[in-house]
Amino acid sequence: MADTPNPIVPGLYGLFGAAVNVYVLDAGDAGLVVFDAGLPRSQNAILDLVRRLGCAPQDVKHILITHGDIDHIGGLKGLHAATGAPITASAASREYIEQPRNPPHVPLPMTLLAGLLAHTIRGTAPVAKEVRDGDVLDLAGGLRVIATPGHTPDHVSYFWEPERVLIAGDALNTLGKGLRPTQPRITWDTAAAYRSIERVLALDPAVICCGHGPVWRASEDTGRLAALRALIGQ
Ligand SMILES: [Zn+2]
Repeated sequence: MADTPNPIVPGLYGLFGAAVNVYVLDAGDAGLVVFDAGLPRSQNAILDLVRRLGCAPQDVKHILITHGDIDHIGGLKGLHAATGAPITASAASREYIEQPRNPPHVPLPMTLLAGLLAHTIRGTAPVAKEVRDGDVLDLAGGLRVIATPGHTPDHVSYFWEPERVLIAGDALNTLGKGLRPTQPRITWDTAAAYRSIERVLALDPAVICCGHGPVWRASEDTGRLAALRALIGQ
């Protein structure tokens, strides 16, 4: 098919072009795994990617959430309704997903706007499974959960062990000069964020898929990893 999406690595696909990225992993018999749910009303774009993979909404069997920001769970209610897939998230993220509340970390005007959007167009959805640091989900050969608080207190990342791909959420981004921490002005705890980055870099990822910005590949790195290590003091 002409418009079959190009994989990031075999089996892993990204939805780019909106302000925030969503990733879809083909876990074979275990179905499709969707990482995050984008801005409000993103569910149709996510389901369009699913269809372009030759799958139906019901083939989505897992929705994994990195953190409870509105640009990552905005389309979650609609995606959950369309797929019936259970939602997996940290215990701390559950509070934000199941209630119209947002994690603390943004300046006041953004807090008010995010609160308004959470109450109006975002809605809520039920979390079926809580994960914690060190859990390994039995999907696609192993998805390790890494607690990565910093940008927000509830943040986790997912490490697909066979391919050494990090689904980083907003623990890192590749905007502008990327690979870098999320900007301090929208970071809950910068020291925690740097510790989280040290932990994920210690996994020696081959590929990093961030919530914002293009995919980073160790094989194509042009000194950004070294710059990031220097920044966080590693
Ligand atoms: Zn984000």
